[in-house]
Amino acid sequence: MRVRTRIAPSPTGDPHIGTIYQALFDYAYAKQNKGNFILRVEDTDRERFVEGATQKILSSLKWFSIEPDESPVHGGDFGPYVQSERLDIYKKYINDLILKKEAYLCFCTKERLDHIREEQIKNKQQPKYDKHCLNLTKKEIDDLINKGTPSVVRLNVKPGIDIIFNDLIRGEIKIKTDSFDDQVLLKSDGYPTYHAAVVIDDHLMKITHIIRGEEWISSTPKHILLYKAFEWDIPMFAHLSLLRNRDKSKISKRHNNTSIDWYKKEGYLPEALTNYLLLLGWSHPEGKEVYSLDEFIKKFSFDRVSKGGPIFDIDKLNWINGVYIRSKSVIEIKKLIKPYLIYDIENKKLEEIIKLIQDRLKKLSEINDLISFFVETPQIDQEILENIISKDKIDEICDISYKTIEDKGINRDTEETLRNYAIEKGYNIGDFFMIIRIVTTGKKATPPLFDTLSIIGKKETLKRLKNGR
Ligand code: GLU
Repeated sequence: MRVRTRIAPSPTGDPHIGTIYQALFDYAYAKQNKGNFILRVEDTDRERFVEGATQKILSSLKWFSIEPDESPVHGGDFGPYVQSERLDIYKKYINDLILKKEAYLCFCTKERLDHIREEQIKNKQQPKYDKHCLNLTKKEIDDLINKGTPSVVRLNVKPGIDIIFNDLIRGEIKIKTDSFDDQVLLKSDGYPTYHAAVVIDDHLMKITHIIRGEEWISSTPKHILLYKAFEWDIPMFAHLSLLRNRDKSKISKRHNNTSIDWYKKEGYLPEALTNYLLLLGWSHPEGKEVYSLDEFIKKFSFDRVSKGGPIFDIDKLNWINGVYIRSKSVIEIKKLIKPYLIYDIENKKLEEIIKLIQDRLKKLSEINDLISFFVETPQIDQEILENIISKDKIDEICDISYKTIEDKGINRDTEETLRNYAIEKGYNIGDFFMIIRIVTTGKKATPPLFDTLSIIGKKETLKRLKNGR
């Protein structure tokens, strides 16, 4: 049987990091098994629908080099791939369930439902529908329909059945149907509920493995009941641990950036973010931390997927991003930083600068801050200087540096001469060069000082040393 996996996001806004996290696993498992990866758009919740969101999901997937085999745009043999275009299909299948007496029409008003709920809560019972409409006669049903009474369709859940499924990540999960409500399958507006649509679509689209977030675990038994009611084969399930904030709550906007667009804008490389997401959810058999999606596809197995809630740690992501940035060539970095760079720098000089700062670059958006002093005369905070050494010493350091550079230019010899001077005069070497560094760059940390100064140039360096005293 050909492996078919899917993601089924709701088009409710900017693509979420959790959607991509899920997609990476679904995609990799399909590709590992020479199967297909499908994107289906679950847009039956019209209130939360956002125009253009489907395109955004597709372009985010593309950014991560994930190309669905079937989707609303790619097409495929099992379309349409947008739920709102499948309403007739859901109606037909749900109607079949009514004919098989696995589902029934319910005409109860909101008032009645609220009332029974309140009573049940008062009596310390679990609130659920009391199956009132299951007992309506054919005539009563016809009369209600003829009067135009709004109705929903409910699944007729029989109590006392054990639902058991073998989660590929979590092992056996068992739950009794006693607690289950007669869930609504079709709403009064003709739209299916998530539970009905997802099962019908996964079946018709021949999805073999449903790899999704753990927030859907509690829905899975309901889905299995539906598969049973339809007498369909039940696919395999795997529930990935959710990404979490530091306080262990589900990853959210309040604590982390969840929109893929944000990561793009900040200058994370898609391959680094991919690697980080995979690292969160899976452990490499050789304990590796840095690996590509291709390697993941080769090595993936469910038994190495994390069962705990991995904590999203931006510092670790920054580290991985830095690793990927360091592995690029100067020419590649030049291309990558282009959309971020606010300075107009001559090509050769830019390449020299990149060579110096590439190791320090953690995300592309930091580029301007990292190289500004190559281009602009920095503002110097005298207080910082005077916290290191007294004003007369600062002046002395600036003067001797000025003179030496004016004489010899910027080279190793100059550096040696200054070092000897500092030793001779009993300076702390670190402080001595720190003063030169801050005065000429405005920063406490820079690439090697004399390499930096030689790019800034003799004239500009002298000007800065004069300003510094
Ligand atoms: N539409 C659901 C979502 O937004 C799909 C859940 C599932 O994968 O079954 O994630």
